[in-house]
Amino acid sequence: MKQNKITIAIDGLSSTGKSTIAKQLARKLGYIYVDTGAMYRAITYFALQKGYIKDPHIDEKDLIQDLEKIDIQFVFNKDLGFGEVHLNGHNVEQHIRSMEVSAMVSPISAIGEVRKKLVALQQKMGKDKGVVMDGRDIGTVVFPNAELKLFLTASAKARATRRYKELLDKGESVSYEAVLENVQKRDHLDSTRSISPLKQAKDAVPIDNSDMGLEEQFERILSLVKRKLKA
Ligand code: C5P
Repeated sequence: MKQNKITIAIDGLSSTGKSTIAKQLARKLGYIYVDTGAMYRAITYFALQKGYIKDPHIDEKDLIQDLEKIDIQFVFNKDLGFGEVHLNGHNVEQHIRSMEVSAMVSPISAIGEVRKKLVALQQKMGKDKGVVMDGRDIGTVVFPNAELKLFLTASAKARATRRYKELLDKGESVSYEAVLENVQKRDHLDSTRSISPLKQAKDAVPIDNSDMGLEEQFERILSLVKRKLKA
């Protein structure tokens, strides 16, 4: 597809398959894919490594002071076909998906300074368009003028079931109930925080994929993209 490049913002609830559809689109269109959740997760992993998190307490001051020392980059992995997140030069993809990180990422991402740093970085990464970015505030804050905005939802049960299978496949021992609780707790924290809460942008297209297959979803969203590219 050789057309003008657009910005595609994908927001939505936890574990609605935002990254799956974002990767599919990026591959099809030859766009850059940016997983902003991975960036918040990388900072959470950093804070855990540094001992700044003693659940439920977070040493915010220490973390904020260290923010300038945190370098986050996506390094393209040819075999996987997308960029993996590197924290200060180390590939942390495997570490950031653990339940330990999932349990603390929402409070860390509610810190204003953390958001300020990452939003600036995300805007830089997407400044030339031709980007598919997924997260919670992409269509509302990071790229409010994105040409196409999607807002993904699905039932809590469908989302927890997908996440649970993913974690089991990765060898993590976790209960379905713990995953369900984490997914619901994150959505609550993410949508009630004071800075950049998770919410549907007025001009976003809502997609409930509880009962939608991946192929059906891809075809539907691709037709929305094609319409935007023609416009
Ligand atoms: O997308 P993922 O589930 O990996 O995101 C992990 C967490 O990072 C979210 O639950 C949310 O707290 C935070 N996040 C955010 N803003 C974004 C992306 C993720 O606050 N744009």
